[in-house]
Amino acid sequence: MQRKYAASVPPVRGSIEDSCCARKIRFGARDGWLDASLGVQQRLVILETSRHVLIAGAGIGGLTLACALRRAGLTATVFERADALRWVGAGITVQMNAAVALRRIGLCDAVAAAGASPTDSAILQPSGATITRLPVQQMQQELGTPMVCIHRARLQSVLLEHAGPEHVRLGRAVTGFKDDGHQVTATLSDGSSVTGDVLVGADGLRSAVRSGLLGDAPLRYSGYTSWRGISPEVPSARPGHVSETWGPGARFGVVPIGSGQVYWYATLNAPPGGQDTPGAARTRLREIFGGWHAPIPDLLAATPDDAIVRTDIHDRPPVNRWSRGRVTLLGDAAHPMTPNLGQGGCQAIEDAVVLSECLASGAPVEAALATYEQRRRERANQMVSRSWRLGQLAQLESPTARFMRDALFRLVPSSLAARGVRDLVRSAA
Ligand SMILES: Cc1cc2nc3c(=O)[nH]c(=O)nc-3n(C[C@H](O)[C@H](O)[C@H](O)COP(=O)(O)OP(=O)(O)OC[C@H]3O[C@@H](n4cnc5c(N)ncnc54)[C@H](O)[C@@H]3O)c2cc1C
Repeated sequence: MQRKYAASVPPVRGSIEDSCCARKIRFGARDGWLDASLGVQQRLVILETSRHVLIAGAGIGGLTLACALRRAGLTATVFERADALRWVGAGITVQMNAAVALRRIGLCDAVAAAGASPTDSAILQPSGATITRLPVQQMQQELGTPMVCIHRARLQSVLLEHAGPEHVRLGRAVTGFKDDGHQVTATLSDGSSVTGDVLVGADGLRSAVRSGLLGDAPLRYSGYTSWRGISPEVPSARPGHVSETWGPGARFGVVPIGSGQVYWYATLNAPPGGQDTPGAARTRLREIFGGWHAPIPDLLAATPDDAIVRTDIHDRPPVNRWSRGRVTLLGDAAHPMTPNLGQGGCQAIEDAVVLSECLASGAPVEAALATYEQRRRERANQMVSRSWRLGQLAQLESPTARFMRDALFRLVPSSLAARGVRDLVRSAA
């Protein structure tokens, strides 16, 4: 094993290869002088934990993985397709289970400081009547973990800072890969290639790494589209109060994210591929949601037209394998899910923390990736299915079906909903 690894040291070519080689040569030399005092197992661990990880995609998952690996003492390079990190003008909720994972890599406090923790959350009707409510502040205190509502740009800045911006290469998409059994070489959109010990596809919903690994299964369209925006705080918005309002085939979410801003999102049953003419999104949203309870009309009125982003909602049915050889997937590349549980980014964070633990364990790469899958697959895949089902319920149009649904949700005591959150958080620890 040791000889095989040493023989795989590539010739010095580009800067990334340079850094790989320097590390391996350094470890080779170290292995030489440690040779007399170490057993084979110990030397194997030193060699295996010196591995260099190639990450495709600088989204939430890829950056969290880079942070976690750095903390664990492994090196990583992140390749990002975009020329600049222009993060979509929207917010995200880092649920308590993801905050637990962030705490394991020392980032929970930094993320919490950059966002806002809500006091309560509710599902409402367009009139403002409550369907169900969750005492979030009480749960945060009980579980000792925050829920963080945050601007995506602020979350990703914190992650980038801790990952080390010098490890992120912009404007280079991963277009393919070749795994020779000892190392993996990724080809990049600028025509160059880079060699490492592991390749992680954290390249999102339309992952190129996934299509090389599993083939191209079509995306599954949910039946609804979405719009997201950031508004300045408006007087009618209750501070700390997160809500999602369920109307006929349409929903509106309100999420205060600190720094005087409120993130909102809207969904609507619609065929896929629809687009808004420039400036038309807000007018359309005001037609649909203008008569709903406060602060919804005020938030729409206060959001600039060009700050509204439209995204059709897709996922993929869960699969049983995310890895082959030295290549694996993480986040939306592995298990894209609809946003109904607010767990897509949270599961990417959990993946990243678990994957870094597996890679840092010293186990051979293939065994480490098998353990990663075993620890993560069932939980993430369940989220995909639960989120899909909740979306189908939440987007109901028929008045009778909606009446029955709302009545059923009202009957579920908030203690039962709280128990679900508690289980999710405790199983993330
Ligand atoms: C309306 C909406 C609301 C949501 N709300 C929440 C929420 O509240 N909480 C939550 O946890 N999740 C939420 N999500 C889901 C969340 O946004 C995603 O699950 C999360 O962003 C996935 O992270 P990722 O790193 O896997 O992928 P992405 O964030 O998609 O990042 C992938 C990155 O890879 C880059 N890339 C793509 N292809 C390549 C390539 N070939 N080579 C190199 N780079 C490449 C992309 O440019 C991008 O930077 C929401 C989603 C939507 C649509």
